[in-house]
Amino acid sequence: MARKTYTGPLIDVSFDGDVCRHAAECVRGMPTVFDTTARPWIDPARADSESTAQTLREVIGRCPSGALRVVEHQDR
Ligand code: SF4
Repeated sequence: MARKTYTGPLIDVSFDGDVCRHAAECVRGMPTVFDTTARPWIDPARADSESTAQTLREVIGRCPSGALRVVEHQDR
């Protein structure tokens, strides 16, 4: 699976399913954005304020595998 990018209003999230270790740090950390029952399962649109975007950055920073990455809009 190739790395995919999910677009949000403040930051984007990229994810590589081949790298994911299914540790569920993301789902525990921010279940509004990371919902494995939804399609797509990553919805950065739920992080639509500076504070929720900052929480999303921190949750992605705890991903142990590097599967998740923040894509800041200025770096697109
Ligand atoms: S935190 Fe990272 S490794 Fe764990 S389930 Fe989420 S994407 Fe996969």
